[in-house]
Amino acid sequence: MLNNPALIPSLFKEGDKRMAYVGRFAPSPTGPLHFGSLITAVASYCDARAHHGQWLVRIEDTDIPRIYPGSENHILACLDAFQFEMDADIIFQKNRLDIYDAIIDQLHQKHQVYACQCTRKMLGSNHIYTGTCLNLNLSFEQKAIRVKVPDQNICFKDRLQGIHSSNLQQDLGDFVLKRRDGIMNYQLAVVVDDYLQGITHVVRGADLLDNTERQIWLGSLLGYPTLQYMHLPLAMNAQGQKLSKQNLAQAIDLNRAPELLQQAIHALHQPHVDLDTPKHMLKQAIAQWDIQQIPHTIELQGTYL
Ligand SMILES: [Zn+2]
Repeated sequence: MLNNPALIPSLFKEGDKRMAYVGRFAPSPTGPLHFGSLITAVASYCDARAHHGQWLVRIEDTDIPRIYPGSENHILACLDAFQFEMDADIIFQKNRLDIYDAIIDQLHQKHQVYACQCTRKMLGSNHIYTGTCLNLNLSFEQKAIRVKVPDQNICFKDRLQGIHSSNLQQDLGDFVLKRRDGIMNYQLAVVVDDYLQGITHVVRGADLLDNTERQIWLGSLLGYPTLQYMHLPLAMNAQGQKLSKQNLAQAIDLNRAPELLQQAIHALHQPHVDLDTPKHMLKQAIAQWDIQQIPHTIELQGTYL
């Protein structure tokens, strides 16, 4: 499957050398973009451009029942209003389910995945899967598909958060790649698309920090190169919760793009940028971009709507 050139975007052709820096912004359309997502978009964009790299956008919409009506359009309208320039067409994961299925087949042939028939009720409140179905050799029909994980520490050095590690077997157990209802799990789609899009650097919110070891493990099983990670501190609301769709964070107001962009740049502790068109403001932010100024914390000080 990976040798099929039709599935490989133009940025990464078989035999080509990988570019030194390809970054991405990968929102999920489970609600409109909020200020926290804007911080991620701005940081991933400025970091890519400051490294003379490319910047891609991917819509992570494999969890089709959770897609919030209109949010995809809001994401596209935001990208437009903030005048971000992409280096390739946006890809939508819901159109790529065949690719992820082919990767699961590939892992199956290498005996790295197995079917699990445990129901949510059977698993109860235990968040660590103990391998109940590991040796049952169940057929894949209408079952969850789990990937085997090792009893060893997986460790990486985050550009902001420093050394982070997890023993996946002890912390999590064999985890789900595809749910029994057929929905493809976020973890696999992320890893596969980062590889196929030629991504080298991931800049995203610290709420995804704990997913990273899983993704590094999957990437290593598939023989993909290791990526550089930078997990940004999260914007919090007045109640001390991270801004999220679940906490009803306000949708980005497209009529206030320059002002919100200035606030996002400020939240990242970057030097002041004058109010102007978003394109000019981003240009100024890129010229002044300095990751040493970004707080090395999980949460940003101050409150945001
Ligand atoms: Zn099971």
